[in-house]
Amino acid sequence: MTATPLIDPFQRTIDYLRVSVTDRCDFRCVYCMSENMTFLPKKELLTLEELDRMCSTFVGLGVKKLRITGGEPLVRRDIMTFFQRMSRHLDSGALRELTLTTNGSQLEKYADDLYAAGVRRINVSLDTLDDQKFADITRWGRLPQVMRGIDAAQKAGLRIKINAVALKGFNEDELFTMVDWCAERDMDLTFIEVMPMGDIGNENRLGQYWALSDLRDSLRERFTLTDLAERTGGPARYVRLEETGQKLGFITPLTHNFCESCNRVRLTCTGELYMCLGQEDMADLRKPLRDYPEDDRALENAIRAAIALKPKGHDFDYSRQKLDGQMPRHMSHTGG
Ligand code: SAM
Ligand code: SF4
Repeated sequence: MTATPLIDPFQRTIDYLRVSVTDRCDFRCVYCMSENMTFLPKKELLTLEELDRMCSTFVGLGVKKLRITGGEPLVRRDIMTFFQRMSRHLDSGALRELTLTTNGSQLEKYADDLYAAGVRRINVSLDTLDDQKFADITRWGRLPQVMRGIDAAQKAGLRIKINAVALKGFNEDELFTMVDWCAERDMDLTFIEVMPMGDIGNENRLGQYWALSDLRDSLRERFTLTDLAERTGGPARYVRLEETGQKLGFITPLTHNFCESCNRVRLTCTGELYMCLGQEDMADLRKPLRDYPEDDRALENAIRAAIALKPKGHDFDYSRQKLDGQMPRHMSHTGG
């Protein structure tokens, strides 16, 4: 018997779940975390068994795509066990895609295991190709380690999309270098507009907001851009560079132009379900999960009740009362 799929009040089918498996990270990117982060006590986190039960319940309710994120998902202890367990849903055909977003630091170690677990495409976050700038923006990261990870991932057969946060005065001058580098290595590339997330301290953010409309104008100096109709149900929009045939993505989370086709929800590492990236409404799924260890019905009901509350659109509105429209939670908690 197949359960009724998750459909929200605006008739959007929710078939994409992003799961943060840890709030910890081996980097401290300046736009994401402060240098001295306080992380959650371990008992707050869903165990790997609980994550399995949670994700499997969502898959049973029609989720077809699972993206594992964090924090840095690959620093969670024994995370490969979780990927291996999830691969049974790929084998059964219930899940179409199992994927992750990573900073790349642990890929050298895990690329083959990820491929073996059925992962085929991954997103690697990388904002610069310059060693020193990389160390500056990530504070604790080192570029050669990530490069070795990317090499290992490609060798293992994983298709890579690079996600680069666009920062004025930081990687503006690397626009074409990054486009060329991705073309040479046959990797897709998406630019992300920086979002006001979390309390990351009062320090200089190194770079500043760089509107992707300006970035597009810069690209036009060298390339002919054709808008593509492709939609993923998320904030990404795509263009083709006619001269090279490359596809580039743009993620502008601050605009409201994608909410009508939103197909996703986000689960934090503590089992809170956020129905919208830009709003604070969430449902605690850990309670029904832990209260009824032998019976998934309470969890299923809680998931359906949460989906029924998914808002029509998000609310990054600078005129509102919240700290300049800033979301108080960290991206590493919700999962980017
Ligand atoms: N650690 C992994 C990584 O870096 O890919 C996964 C989690 S990270 C929070 C997911 C994505 O969010 C990364 O691509 C990162 O660049 C992006 N991100 C973090 N803070 C952001 C912000 N304030 N604005 C826009 N993107 C942000
Ligand atoms: Fe870590 Fe990713 Fe945040 Fe950077 S963006 S600090 S790699 S979680």
